[in-house]
Formats: sequence, C-alpha cells, structure tokens
Amino acid sequence: TLTQRLAKVVKTMRGQARITEENSKEMLREVRLALLEADVALPVVRELTNRIKEKALGEEVVGSLNPGQVLVSIVQRELTAVIGGDLPEKEREINLACTPPAIILLAGLQGAGKTTTAGKLARWLIRNQKKKVLTVSADVYRPAAIEQLKTVSEQAGAEFFPSTTDQKPLDIAAAALDYAKRHFFDVLIVDTAGRLSIDERMMQEASDLSAFLKPIETFFVVDAMVGQDAINTAKVFNDRLPLTGIILTKVDGDSRGGAALSVRQVTGKPIKFIGTGEKLDGFDTFNPEAMASRILGMGDIVALVRDVTSNIDAEKAKKIADRVRKSGRLDLNDFREQMIQMRGMGSMSSLIDKLPAAMQEAAAKQNVSDADADRMIRRTIGIIDSMTPAERHHPELIKASRKRRIAAGAGLPVQEVNKLLKQYDQMTEVMKRMKKGGLSKLLRMAGGRF
Ligand code: GDP
Ligand code: MG
Repeated sequence: TLTQRLAKVVKTMRGQARITEENSKEMLREVRLALLEADVALPVVRELTNRIKEKALGEEVVGSLNPGQVLVSIVQRELTAVIGGDLPEKEREINLACTPPAIILLAGLQGAGKTTTAGKLARWLIRNQKKKVLTVSADVYRPAAIEQLKTVSEQAGAEFFPSTTDQKPLDIAAAALDYAKRHFFDVLIVDTAGRLSIDERMMQEASDLSAFLKPIETFFVVDAMVGQDAINTAKVFNDRLPLTGIILTKVDGDSRGGAALSVRQVTGKPIKFIGTGEKLDGFDTFNPEAMASRILGMGDIVALVRDVTSNIDAEKAKKIADRVRKSGRLDLNDFREQMIQMRGMGSMSSLIDKLPAAMQEAAAKQNVSDADADRMIRRTIGIIDSMTPAERHHPELIKASRKRRIAAGAGLPVQEVNKLLKQYDQMTEVMKRMKKGGLSKLLRMAGGRF
C-alpha cells in the first residue's frame, strides 16, 4: 500500500535537515503512482504533484520531524484542500436559499445514478432539513425510468409528480413546477434522461430544462467507478450547464475515489454529496479528508491505530495514566510496563513502518533501529529489573556508582544504562506532548472521525 511505501521513503529521509529537489523525488514518485492507481486523470496528477512539490520545497522542517514526515503531511493536506477542503463550509453545503420551491436539477450519463440519487436526496432533505419534497421525471425515453423514480420517491416519503413518455420534457417541468407552487413544496427535484455517452440531443434537452427552470442547484451526477472517463464527461456537462455542484455515486465500490479529484479539478465545482450504496440510506455529505485518505490508501493507518489501542491492556494503561496524572511523570516501573506491552504488539520495526508522522516521531526519539527493536526492549527490561525499587521510582537517584552496579547486574556496559535513562527522559517528553494533542493530530491525519 501507499502507506507502507511512504513509510519506507520516510525512513530513508531520516536524518536530513530539509526537503530538497533531490530527496523529495522518490517520495513524489510514490505519490504520483498512488494517484494514478486511484484513477486520477493524468493532467490532474501532474498539477497536484507540482503543487505538492512547490509547497514542500518552501516548507520548513521544524523540531524533530524529518523531511519525509513533513512531506507526507503536505500530501495529505494538499489533497484534502484540492478536493474541496479549502472551500468555506457554506460552499460545500446544499443551497436552498431562494423563494420556494427550490429547484434541483440532476444531470449525468445513463447509469450514473441520477434516479437513485433523486430518491436519496429527497429522503435526506425530508429527514435532515424537514423539507416538503416533490419529485418529477423528465426521462421520457424509458417508461421504466419514470416508474423507478416513483418507487424511490415513495420509499423516501416524497411526493411523486407523474409524467408519461408521450410528453415533452419542458411540458412536464412546467406542470410539475406549477403543482409544486400551488401545493407549497419546499423543494422540487427534477430527474432527467441520460445517454450512455455524451449526445447532443441529451445535452440540448438538459440545457433547455435548465434555462426554463433556472434551478438553484444543478448537480452533475457521476459514477466514481468511471475513473479516467469522468474528466471528459465532466468537461462537456460543465460547458453546457450552469453546474453548481457534483454528486459522486458508487463510492462504496472498488474505486479509489480518483474521479472525485478529476471532476472537482475539471469543473471547479464543489462535491456536495456521495452515494455509498444502492439503498436510499447509502448517501452522505461529502467529506474531503475522508476522500483524500481513501485516494491515498491511508485507511490502514486507522486500522493500525485501533490495533494498537486494543492491544494495550486497558487496565494497566489506565493505572499508568492515573499515576502520571498524580505525580506528573512516569517512573521506570511504568516505563518497564510500557516496554512489555510494546512487545505484546508485535515487533516495533513493523509498527514503525506503518505509523504516520506524529507517532514515528515518538518512535524515532527512542532511537529504534530496525534490526534490534525487540532485543532493545528485552535489554531495557533487564536493566530495569536490576534496579532497586527506590531507583525505579526515582531515576534521578541513579548516579555513577549505581549505574555501574545496575550495568553489572544486567550484564551490559554502563553506556546501555545511560541510553535507557535518556530514552526514559525522551519518553516522558513525548508523553507530555501526546497529551497536548499529538494523538488527535494523528487521528485527524488518518482521516477518521473519532
Ligand atoms: P440513472 O440512469 O442515472 O438514473 O441511474 P440509476 O439511478 O438508475 O442507477 C443505475 C444503477 O446504479 C442502479 O442499479 C443503481 O442501483 C446503482 N446505483 C446508484 N447509486 C449507487 C451507489 O451509490 N452505490 C451503488 N453500489 N450503486 C448505485
Ligand atoms: Mg434514471
């Protein structure tokens, strides 16, 4: 996965003071590959990687982060921004601010999910915004399509305005609008016909409906699975219709979500909703952070964080935390306990590879190298076992002669004892910082909502 690949690159960049043209090359190549694998269109990939590079070269590497870690967070941040995270909240939300009925026009290719989305959107508006919703189908080519809208509208609890295949789309629209006004509907959702590919007659029809209805929202409905093709379709629809937003469907499938990035870039319009299933409840407002994580394949970071938390003995962790709170610090007994728990989680080195910046920082601070992670932990435990209870509780007591005694007891050179005491100091420091929002930053990076 990309996470693993990036972690590897992060490691090779350890110890370098800043991000340069040279050391960012490999990293950017991995990012480019990930985007292409996620079906992001090539021109969009180029633009985004250039943007990331530009930001990265200007970025200062602060504190104990290494350039690789900084780069990973830039990638995540820029992708989120480009996909819509940089837009004000208001522009990402549905706009119904007009004299009712607020008209919503759905356009897109056949099979994109327009009719299903009409039902989902109706349900969402009824449940979340307490709106009175009317739906109508201007798809006069397929009787089944009109029937389908009727079915989903009933499931959604919306009223359905009937139409027939011998009517003209504009006449249907006029009649539905008149009905909606007379019966004080808040919202009128207009479903349109699509074709399998771009077709002049379809575009003209949609454009005529748009000119007549002057909808407050015109959504381009697009299947997330189409990948590269999305870019051309989106271009045409954006040229011919005054689009106000995008609804990305079938995000529940295997697609990595690259279409989101392409469509957003090509149209410049915000993605407002996503479809996440065939049923009407498979619908949600768009979350740029989550989509960016999906594109980058960072979902496994979330899983890892869960693994780690579930593996640590909750009782013991709580005891340690309580003691730290009371005394304001860890003692070496706590440190020993933590080491034992780390061993229980599997090898440190395998963990480090998967961890994002905030946690790698903590791991790097303990000077863990790949080969001897487990041995180091066992040694640490051995050293602490050679200490007296007083020494474990008050490590500051440990001066030269005590160090020699402890080292001899553990069968190790004195430097090892010094190293452990240093690690202990650093651990205390990291713990302090974790408490100051380190962990929440990590979870945010992982894209999850906790
Ligand atoms: P339209 O031709 O644009 O009106 O597309 P439809 O609404 O008829 O949908 C085409 C197919 O895609 C149907 O089989 C839907 O059940 C399916 N579909 C629509 N939205 C989603 C979605 O978000 N997830 C999944 N898995 N299937 C969807
Ligand atoms: Mg349809």
